[in-house]
Amino acid sequence: MRNSYTSRLAKALLASTLVLTAGCTGAALTEPGSSPSPAPPAQTPANGSTGEGSKPADPGTKPSTPANEQPPSAGGAVTPPANSGGGGAIQVIAKPAEIAVLVNKTNKLPENYKPQDLVDPDVPFVFKEKLEKRKMRKEAASALEKLFQGAKDAGLPLAGVSAYRSHATQTALYNNYVKKHGEEEANKFSAKPGQSEHETGLAIDVAGANGKCPAQDCFGATPEAKWLAEHAHEYGFIVRYLKGKESITGYQYEPWHLRYVGVELAKDITKQGVTLEEYISKGVPVSKPKS
Ligand SMILES: [Zn+2]
Repeated sequence: MRNSYTSRLAKALLASTLVLTAGCTGAALTEPGSSPSPAPPAQTPANGSTGEGSKPADPGTKPSTPANEQPPSAGGAVTPPANSGGGGAIQVIAKPAEIAVLVNKTNKLPENYKPQDLVDPDVPFVFKEKLEKRKMRKEAASALEKLFQGAKDAGLPLAGVSAYRSHATQTALYNNYVKKHGEEEANKFSAKPGQSEHETGLAIDVAGANGKCPAQDCFGATPEAKWLAEHAHEYGFIVRYLKGKESITGYQYEPWHLRYVGVELAKDITKQGVTLEEYISKGVPVSKPKS
């Protein structure tokens, strides 16, 4: 159903945003091993007011619970595990506020979900404005500040490109793409509303502080990307969309898209070299970190 409010909103949002890339609207689904990027249409991950009704997120969430104490619950209690690639039925995530929540093309956030603890991380962004896309959930924001400090100490200062995106923003963005490119094409580079990790407040696209290659494939060749691949887990983040795992994640390699899952989980996932989908479908970590 076409929603004229949404499309007006889309226009307003797109008109007011910086030109970055569409990367991580959820990026393109490419065949495994295919070469990088048919660059998605140059529009920006929009931002703006939410205006969406929201109900309180599960207040019982305990973000700091070490993942290894409750491996089966990783994934936000989606009933059938993982396996995103596409095709299957789409599950609505039962516990969207869980830090380890799995959001992808087969596991979507509830329509009215909005994270309740969004804050502005104290890190530089590639833009100056105070926009929605600066926001992250509290725990992730605090971890991000430490990660940025770590990168800076290594001589590789970073800048944020785009973090939180409301359901309304993702809806507007997606509808706009569909209008312009048709649904089939839009699905290759944009996440449908409810299926973008950016809506969780736990994901962020980053770039080097010099602002080069923001959410673009060329970022992968930078020392910043290398540092992130080697160190992000120490701060509780994973590089969410890995090279060669496109058929599992449903997205092309995105060296700039970081997802906060907590330190224990991030370390374990990175050590195993797996995607969140694979990790969660195993149910129990292969090797438990010492606690
Ligand atoms: Zn992203």
